[in-house]
Amino acid sequence: MSKAIYPGSFDPITYGHIDVVQRARKVFDELIVAVVTNPQKQTLFTLEERRELCERALEEAGLGDVPVITWDGLVVDCAKHHGAIAIVRGLRANSDFEREFQMALTNRDLNGEVESVFFMTSAEYSFLSSSLVKEIKSFGGDVSRYVPRVVEAALARKLRKP
Ligand code: ADP
Repeated sequence: MSKAIYPGSFDPITYGHIDVVQRARKVFDELIVAVVTNPQKQTLFTLEERRELCERALEEAGLGDVPVITWDGLVVDCAKHHGAIAIVRGLRANSDFEREFQMALTNRDLNGEVESVFFMTSAEYSFLSSSLVKEIKSFGGDVSRYVPRVVEAALARKLRKP
């Protein structure tokens, strides 16, 4: 049985991430979304808030059977711990490539048994990022086309915007 993990900050989860989940699920028998800590990134939502939002957003998108976990440590260790053969990542534009390439080679160096697998974003979400959504919402803009309702509500509460 082929199992994969989809790790990320998911701060917060967007329709771009959900699109990757939908695609990856068709390729692997089992997919686990792993919300990870990243010491380089200051997040708006706590790890637990991000996990809960992923769970509720996936449920809203009809993907409630995709498990969501948290992980504080190396992604390759997460994959090993959960018996996953692959790490799923999404690619938007050229700008993602450099970073993802470096990370994939590093992860391979750390554990040669886990493959990194990349899914191309759908064109409609190619510009979409969690940062952009937070920025739009912080100025009171409408993000309903980019995130599920539960995420939109959480952003409104966190940023105190309608
Ligand atoms: P990280 O901090 O690990 O990059 P993110 O939550 O920003 O966490 O992204 C997780 C993964 O999802 C990354 O591989 C990123 O390229 C991908 N991703 C983010 N937004 C999109 C999108 N709109 N379309 C496709 N993939 C995306």
